[in-house]
Amino acid sequence: MDTRGLVDYHLHTELCGHARGGLEDYVGRALELGLAEVGFCDHFPLLHLKDPTLSMTVEDLPRYLREVEELRGRFSGMLEIRVGIEVDYLPETLQQVSEMLEGLTLDYVMGSVHFLDGWGFDDPRYVDGYRGRDIRALWERYFQLLGDAAESGKFDVMAHPDYFRRHLHHTHPEPLTLEDYGPILFEAIDSMASYGVGVEVNTSGYRHGIGDCYPSLEVLRAFKDGGIETVTIGSDSHRVEDLGSGLEEAVARLRSASYDHISIFEGRRNHFVSLDEACRPRKPQIRFST
Ligand SMILES: [Zn+2]
Ligand SMILES: [Zn+2]
Repeated sequence: MDTRGLVDYHLHTELCGHARGGLEDYVGRALELGLAEVGFCDHFPLLHLKDPTLSMTVEDLPRYLREVEELRGRFSGMLEIRVGIEVDYLPETLQQVSEMLEGLTLDYVMGSVHFLDGWGFDDPRYVDGYRGRDIRALWERYFQLLGDAAESGKFDVMAHPDYFRRHLHHTHPEPLTLEDYGPILFEAIDSMASYGVGVEVNTSGYRHGIGDCYPSLEVLRAFKDGGIETVTIGSDSHRVEDLGSGLEEAVARLRSASYDHISIFEGRRNHFVSLDEACRPRKPQIRFST
C-alpha cells in the first residue's frame, strides 16, 4: 500500500471509549506512512444516551480540541493536522448540538447517522435489530435522516453515506442497487447538493467484511451526478494500525465515479486538491477553493 502524500480525514482515538491509540500515536504512524495530512474526527458527545463506550464526554471536548491544536503546532511543517469532529445527527438533540458547536474552532464537522429512531444499527451489541426488519423501511429512514441532517446546515460532509449496510450483509447478502433505493436516495442527494454538503468515501467497509467502501460505487456516482463535488476520504480508524487503510481503493473509487479531486478543509472551508497531486509522495498543493 502506498499512501504517501494522501489524506486521511476520519481518525478516532481512545477518547471515544471504543477506539485504541492516542492522538500522538496516530501522528507517529502518519509520519511513518508519509501521509500529507490527517484529520482527527472523534465522536462528539452523544447527548441522548450517556455511554462512555460510544463518545467523548461533554467535559472531554475542550481537551480534545486543545490537544489537537497543540499537536498541530508541534508537527507543523512535517504533517498537516486538522481538527474535525463526527457528530451524530438525531432530530431530538439537534438544537442542543447546534448550540454546542457554535463558537468551536474546527476545520470540519462530519455528520453521521448511526441511530434510527433510537436503534444504534452499527453497534454490534444491537445487531439483532436487523433480523426480521423491513429493509426498505431501514434505508428509507436512513436516507431521510441523511437528507434532514444536510438541511440542518450544521455539517460540512456526511460520513459513510450508506452505512446501514454495515451489518445488513449478514441477513441480506444480495447487493443493493439504485432501483432498490428509489427516489428517497435522490432526495437526500438533492438536499446535500442544495445545502453545499459534501460526501465521504469511507474505507472501513473493507474491514467490516462487506468488501467495499461506504458508499458503493453506484451510490457515489449518483452523488457525482447529483452535483456533489466536495468529497473527503477517510479510513474511520479506531486503532492506529488502520490509519490510511484502503485509501488507495478510495482514490480508485473516486476516479471510477469521475471525480478528479478530493477535498481538504481548513476552518470549515473546502479546498480541492487534484487526485494526481494528492497521490504524489509530497505535500498536496491547494488548487482552488469554494
Ligand atoms: Zn466509533
Ligand atoms: Zn461513523
